[in-house]
Amino acid sequence: MQARDLLHKALWSAIYLLFILAPLFALLTRALPPTRGFGTEFSIALGYSGLAIMGLQFGLTARFRYVTEPWGEDVIYHFHRRVSLIAVSLVMAHPLILLAAGSESMVLPASIPELPLGAVFAGLSIGSLILLVVMALWRTRLKISYETWHLTHIVLALTAVTAGMAHMVAWGYYLVDPWKRTLWMGMATFWIALLLYVRIIKPLFMLRRPYRIAEVRPERGDTTTLVMRPDGHAGFRFRPGQFGWLTLWGSPFKITGHPFSFSSSAEVSDGRVEMSIRKLGDFTSAVPRVTVGQRVYLDGPYGAFTIGNPADMHVLIAGGIGITPMMSMIRTLADRGDRRPLVLLYGSKDWESISFREELETMKLRLDLTVVHVLSQPPDGWTGESGYINAELFKRHLPPGYADHEYFICGPNVMMDAIEQALGEMKVPLAKYHSERYSFV
Ligand SMILES: Cc1cc2nc3c(=O)[nH]c(=O)nc-3n(C[C@H](O)[C@H](O)[C@H](O)COP(=O)(O)OP(=O)(O)OC[C@H]3O[C@@H](n4cnc5c(N)ncnc54)[C@H](O)[C@@H]3O)c2cc1C
Repeated sequence: MQARDLLHKALWSAIYLLFILAPLFALLTRALPPTRGFGTEFSIALGYSGLAIMGLQFGLTARFRYVTEPWGEDVIYHFHRRVSLIAVSLVMAHPLILLAAGSESMVLPASIPELPLGAVFAGLSIGSLILLVVMALWRTRLKISYETWHLTHIVLALTAVTAGMAHMVAWGYYLVDPWKRTLWMGMATFWIALLLYVRIIKPLFMLRRPYRIAEVRPERGDTTTLVMRPDGHAGFRFRPGQFGWLTLWGSPFKITGHPFSFSSSAEVSDGRVEMSIRKLGDFTSAVPRVTVGQRVYLDGPYGAFTIGNPADMHVLIAGGIGITPMMSMIRTLADRGDRRPLVLLYGSKDWESISFREELETMKLRLDLTVVHVLSQPPDGWTGESGYINAELFKRHLPPGYADHEYFICGPNVMMDAIEQALGEMKVPLAKYHSERYSFV
């Protein structure tokens, strides 16, 4: 790992902790309200901590390139899911501990209109949180479409955090001091401003930087390549292996963009980019119907999945449509005249569904490239590899000194888990393998 990346990681981690801890310590400064029992004070500390962590999730998911780059987007979303569950547990523990401690604030009044405003906001915040967690954990089982879930997720998160903040202010106590109140309300405004930035300011910029579809190219394996050119601007440069968020129909204000790796060479100077998209659900199945000249929007580049040290042999391991970032790497290295040794281990269902099969053959003439196709449903008489990519297959096709090569893995989650485990068993250090997961949720 480069020293620059390490420094970046350390800096962002420090800022993250500062944003969570500083407002908590600020509550303990200046005049303090009278202390109540340990249970009450402890539960309040948990509530404040939970809210501070929850608010920062808006920053984590705001797609700030400089924040996400050292880790990669998939790691950030993984962290977001884990840390959100911790934050929700802290917030939920707050009323439960108060109840167990017999706090009088948990005694319900005789009728609902008598409920203090602070309690109403608490109920709203906790209700939204429960719904949010249920939908996030069981979206597929509940058969909720990604788009519906995404919109609801944002609305519920916003409600939970705003109502939580309103609960704290309405209850007063630690926030009676105007300085502390201003600090916490300022922080909540900052969190919401992050959301407004992502949903309003950034799309406004993107509106002025559209792309046009220059070509719609069918590929093998239910895949379509979209060739896009910047319309009235220079576009952006990306590194091979990175991805962008694509909006095909509608404006950049549309809540849900779809992530796709760039499949083209990064060595183009006219801003042209290509994405190769395989049919999976509603959105991807409609891609073949895109028309030349159509206006689309691209937000990118993102991701840390990109080629490394030129001295090392690069082992590219792709499963199915996980070939797209590898194609970008292969095409870029060919355009650069790079001679590093490359081995592509490429898992596909059958011979006919191998996207880019013919082009990979011609690439062997321009690169030091070996392609090993691994078919899960091989045709009769197939003498190549069949089944799935595993440690044994590595040993058959890679020169020894496994820990010296650099590995790039992209494909279905099951394949990636198996390969990461195999590399671990082959004593390949973590820093030597890079993965891109095609699922953030
Ligand atoms: C970093 C990254 C790069 C990717 N690159 C490619 C690529 O080059 N080519 C390719 O064919 N596919 C790629 N994918 C997968 C692609 O984004 C999904 O297949 C596509 O968004 C599914 O949309 P759908 O409506 O057709 O399918 P659905 O049936 O709606 O969704 C299938 C699954 O895809 C995920 N998904 C759906 N919509 C989104 C979204 N807006 N954002 C994030 N995840 C979503 C969800 O887990 C969902 O359960 C990539 C995914 C990621 C995360």
